Amino acid sequence: MLEDVGLRPTFQRVKVLEHIYKFRNSHPTVETIFESLHKELSVISMATVYNTMNAFHKKGILNAITITGEEFRYDPNTENHHHFLCLKCGKIYDIDIKCPIALTSKKAIDGHKIEEVHGYFKGICRECRSKRLKNGKSGQEGKYYK
Ligand SMILES: [Zn+2]
Ligand SMILES: [Zn+2]
Repeated sequence: MLEDVGLRPTFQRVKVLEHIYKFRNSHPTVETIFESLHKELSVISMATVYNTMNAFHKKGILNAITITGEEFRYDPNTENHHHFLCLKCGKIYDIDIKCPIALTSKKAIDGHKIEEVHGYFKGICRECRSKRLKNGKSGQEGKYYK
């Protein structure tokens, strides 16, 4: 996979990629990958992880999602798909809805050529909703609430 995009599959790159896949469902940050990787490989530095993920992003192996407006979240699924951010727990879910652009197979809108489509949805995820119901509370403000 790395060789396909012209990156030498060094030990550290392969390890970073492994950990990205481990967290792929939560759309991890560089910090998440670093913390997880550091437990296994104490010599790895934050800068290495950052640079590696940046290189993956440039080569198109990873998508960078800016849904929170505060940080990059990375996604090894580079197909066009939409995301849901939980404002309470900060998890990002892939959501399966048909994109209007895909439906009409429009390649341009108002003369602008479309190359990528990102749909961001925000709210309270099903896990947080069920917790909230169990606790019988209306819910505390989460860290993502402004
Ligand atoms: Zn949640
Ligand atoms: Zn995704």
